[in-house]
Amino acid sequence: MTPDHEVVIVGAGFGGMGAAIQFKRMGVSDLLIVEREDDLGGTWHVNRYPGLAVDIASVTYSYSFEPNPYWSRLFAPGDELKRYADHVADKYDLRRHMRFSTVVEGARWDEEGQVWVLSVSGEPPIITRYLVTATGFLSQPHTPDIPGIDGFAGRVMHTTAWDDSVDLTGRRAAVIGTGATAVQLIPELARTVDELTVYQRTPIWVVPKIDGPIPAAVQKLFARLPVTQKLARLANTGLLELVMIGGVLRFRQARALNRAAAAVARRHLRRQVADPELRRKLTPDYDFGCKRPTFSNTYFRAFTKPHVHLQTSGIERIEPDGIVAGDGSKAEIDTLVLATGFDLWDVNFPAIEVIGRGGRNLGTWWRQTRFQAFEGIAVPEFPNFLTLASPYSYSGLSYFTTIETHMRHIRRLFGELRRRGARTFEVTHEANDEFLQRVTAKLNDSVFYLGSCATSRSYYFNQHGEAAILRPTSTISARREADSYSLDAYTYA
Ligand code: NAP
Repeated sequence: MTPDHEVVIVGAGFGGMGAAIQFKRMGVSDLLIVEREDDLGGTWHVNRYPGLAVDIASVTYSYSFEPNPYWSRLFAPGDELKRYADHVADKYDLRRHMRFSTVVEGARWDEEGQVWVLSVSGEPPIITRYLVTATGFLSQPHTPDIPGIDGFAGRVMHTTAWDDSVDLTGRRAAVIGTGATAVQLIPELARTVDELTVYQRTPIWVVPKIDGPIPAAVQKLFARLPVTQKLARLANTGLLELVMIGGVLRFRQARALNRAAAAVARRHLRRQVADPELRRKLTPDYDFGCKRPTFSNTYFRAFTKPHVHLQTSGIERIEPDGIVAGDGSKAEIDTLVLATGFDLWDVNFPAIEVIGRGGRNLGTWWRQTRFQAFEGIAVPEFPNFLTLASPYSYSGLSYFTTIETHMRHIRRLFGELRRRGARTFEVTHEANDEFLQRVTAKLNDSVFYLGSCATSRSYYFNQHGEAAILRPTSTISARREADSYSLDAYTYA
C-alpha cells in the first residue's frame, strides 16, 4: 500500500497544531491534519458558552515560541484564544494541511504495508505512514442519563454546543454541574435569566482569580521587549508549578501547602457568602487538588442573589416542564444547561478505535490491563503511532507545557529515525513498563492517593481508581526527559 501522506494528525486543536509545527520544522511537508469540526482551534472553537475564558494566565497558556503581546486580560477570554489559534495556523502555514468536517472513525495498522489505514465517515480511507492522534482530553461531551431528560419540552444545551442565537433574557433556567465550566458560566447566566437553579452533586474548590485588563503600555512593552513577557511567563509558570508540585503531586512532603490553598478557598467563600448554610453546601469535603480547582471572583457571589438557587438534594427526574429534586421540590424551567463535562475514561482514551499490531485494540487493552503510554505518547505494539492525549502525559497546569514536551519528544524520535534511515518505530515493552512503574510509584506521594479524595468524583481517576492523567513530575523534568530519553526505548526498522 502506498501511503497518501507521510504524517496524518487527527485533531486541529493546539496539540495537533503543535505537532504539525514540529513536523514542518523537520522538513515534513506531506502532512495532513484532519478535524471533525468545521474549523480549527479544538476546545476554543467548540466552546462558546458565556463567561468562557482561560483559567491559566495567558502568558503561560500559549506556545512559548509564539508569544502574543496583545492579550487583553491576564486571563484571556475564549474568543481571543480562538483568534490566537487562527493566528498560529496562518503564521505557521498550517491551514493548507487541514481538512475539516472529516470524522475519523478508526485507524488500523497494516503490517504488510507498514502503514496506518484510517477509516473516515462517508469518505474513502486515508493511508499514512505515521499517525498522530491529538484528540484532546476533554473532547467527548458527557450527557447525563437522567430519567425523563429526553422528554424535556424546553431547550437543552450542553456547554460544548452553545447556541449563540438563543436569548436567555427572562428565562427560567437550570444548570446541572458545578465543574470549572459551570464556575465560569453560572455568574454570567445569573445576570441574564429570571430564575436560575443550580444542581450541584459535588462542590468545587474555588480560589480568587487575580485577573484584570493588561494595560496598553504593558502590551507595548511585551511587544518591544519580548524578554519582559518571557520573564512574566517564567514567574507565572513557576507559581503554577509550585501549586502543582507542592500542593498536589508532593502532598506527602508539602501537605501544608495543600492546606494553605484550601484555606485560601475557604476564606474566599466566607468573604462572599454570609449565610452559613449556603457556605456549608458550597464547601467541598474532599482535599484540595483531588479535583481540578477553579478560579473565580463571581461564582460564590452568584448564589447570594435572590433568583439563584442551589439545589443539593440530587435530581429525581426531569419532567417536560421542570426538574424534580431528591427532596421532592420541583423547579419549573424552560432552559436546561448541561455543564456536565466530558467522558474521559469510557469514550476518550482513545477517542477513535485504534487497532495495532496483531489486532490489538488500544482501548480494550488499556481497559483490560492498565492505562499506560511511554512518556505519555507511545504504546508498544502500535508502531509509527503517537497519541498525545494519553495516560500520564498531562504535565503541569497549562496544556502548552504538555504540547511542547510532546514536540520535543517528536523531534528526538524522528531525528533518530532519520539518522538510522529507518521508517518504522515502536516503543519497547521494557521502556513502557519502566515508565509506568516509575510514574505510578511517584503518584504514591500525591494527594490522589494520600489525601482524602473518595467523595471528589474527580475525572482525574479512572474506572480502576488510578489517577492516570497527570504526569507526576515537574514540567522541567518532563521537558528534560523529552530531550534525553534513551533512544533505545524504541526499536527501528
Ligand atoms: P467537570 O469538571 O467534569 O464537571 C462536570 C460537572 O457535572 C460536575 O460538577 C459533575 O458532578 C456534574 N455532573 C455530571 N453528571 C451529572 C449528573 N448525572 N448529575 C449531576 N451532576 C452531574 O466538567 P467541566 O466543568 O466542563 O470542566 C472540565 C474541565 O475542563 C475542567 O476541569 C478544566 O480542566 C477544563 N476547563 C478549563 C477551563 C479553562 O479556562 N481553562 C474552563 C472550563 C473548563 P460530580 O462532580 O458530582 O461528578
